[in-house]
Amino acid sequence: MNKKPIFVTKPYLPPLEEFIPYLEQIWESGTLTNGGPFHQQLESALCHHLGIEHIALFTNGTTALVTALQSLRITGEVITTPYSFVATSHSLLWNGIRPVFVDIDPDSLNIDPRRIEAAITPQTTAILAVHCYGHPCDVEAIQKIADTYNLKVIYDAAHAFGVRCHGSSVLGHGDLSVLSFHATKVFNTFEGGAIVCPDAKTKTRIDHLKNFGFAGETTVVAPGINGKMSEFNAALGLLQLKHVDRAIARRRKIDAAYRAHLRNVAGIHCLHDTGEDVANYAYFPILVGPGYPIGRDALYQRMKDCGIHPRRYFYPLISEFPMYRGLPSAQRDNLPVATEVAGQVLCLPIYPDLTDTEIERIVAIIKETVVDPTHPNFS
Ligand SMILES: *Cc1c(COP(=O)(O)O)cnc(C)c1O
Repeated sequence: MNKKPIFVTKPYLPPLEEFIPYLEQIWESGTLTNGGPFHQQLESALCHHLGIEHIALFTNGTTALVTALQSLRITGEVITTPYSFVATSHSLLWNGIRPVFVDIDPDSLNIDPRRIEAAITPQTTAILAVHCYGHPCDVEAIQKIADTYNLKVIYDAAHAFGVRCHGSSVLGHGDLSVLSFHATKVFNTFEGGAIVCPDAKTKTRIDHLKNFGFAGETTVVAPGINGKMSEFNAALGLLQLKHVDRAIARRRKIDAAYRAHLRNVAGIHCLHDTGEDVANYAYFPILVGPGYPIGRDALYQRMKDCGIHPRRYFYPLISEFPMYRGLPSAQRDNLPVATEVAGQVLCLPIYPDLTDTEIERIVAIIKETVVDPTHPNFS
């Protein structure tokens, strides 16, 4: 029997008929972009939903990252994590900034604040940290270092939609936080992103930067970019927002099911069991340790042979790619924890439509390797 392949994620799509009225409004008004009514409504709705004061919508998360660094006039060297999606470090290169990689904490998989100070030089201007898998960074420790050395803090919060820590939104920390609304993320507008700003003045500056630097009909105040979100994408966001709480509730159930199934599987470690009501369950990373009968790549291949397509996020490390690997900080002996984790991690499928039967199918393959070393695929 041929079973449907299962991918690591399946973008959430609301019922099509619910989107038609939005399209009709766009066609009636004839406003397609440049801060139209849906764009303005989505900014307000997101502030309300996320518990933040100011947000600037963008065409995608990467343009938002590049613009965030521009808006703070970051130059020189920036301390960052190698354990992320490449766009994190690429945003530095696009600004002519040199990334300085610092190792990660083995529990959170976020940048290890205990290692930041040793990487600071007279050229250091900022810390670009990532709330990896939506798990909050040690925001207090990072802010303390930033205050001591007069550094800016930018959070790549692409995974952290709706995440809260210490009773408020994680997006309120640092100088700026950047979201991605790409199709694969917990909340999507097909393509999209945003910068969370601390005050109205910063938002105004960022709004200028995302619109070529225009501050008025005939005034250009900066070499800005075109980062504006269209009315189509903003309308999608307004509709997705109506469904996102239910989507996250289902993700939470899947997360709990995986943990229960995998609890006693030797060599498999499930990360981030915070038990707090603050996560968004964006990813389900496991570490395939030396106590497991086969290596991570063998398990990955075996799952693919069975029609399950997990992903090795984040392997290879950013620091392994050709445009980074020559940097002194990119050397493996500077990044032992990140290197080890990148060799063991596997993100299992998690998305609202994933059924309990499918979860059992996925878990069975992982368990089968443990209990049956005579299985024909055993290697
Ligand atoms: C998805 C992602 C981005 C890029 O966002 P886009 O909207 O796809 O440009 C940046 N950083 C991280 C950590 C991501 O996961």
